[in-house]
Amino acid sequence: MTIPTLTGYPDTPTTCRVWCRWCCTWHIHGQEDPDEIRHRVAHCGQHSPYWHSSYHMRGTATPWDQVRRTIRTASIAQQNVISRGETTPAIDRLRAQPDPEP
Ligand SMILES: [Zn+2]
Repeated sequence: MTIPTLTGYPDTPTTCRVWCRWCCTWHIHGQEDPDEIRHRVAHCGQHSPYWHSSYHMRGTATPWDQVRRTIRTASIAQQNVISRGETTPAIDRLRAQPDPEP
């Protein structure tokens, strides 16, 4: 199984945010130095493919605040649908968004 690499955008002095297209939300992890890649345990629900594969996180110097508004996240109602392992056309569109530019 190929382990995907996601970008971790610095948020606070000690944490960063990772865009998860399966959960349609930003997961919070400990910060990583720019261009360092480390294996992370996925902060996903059990229906996410990342639940099984986990992911690698690559640090970047680009702050989360600079990219957060380029991504639309799931509403609370949509998060409930996602947590049941179901989807809707709107959730499919959220998942099809291009990744932010690191
Ligand atoms: Zn996730």
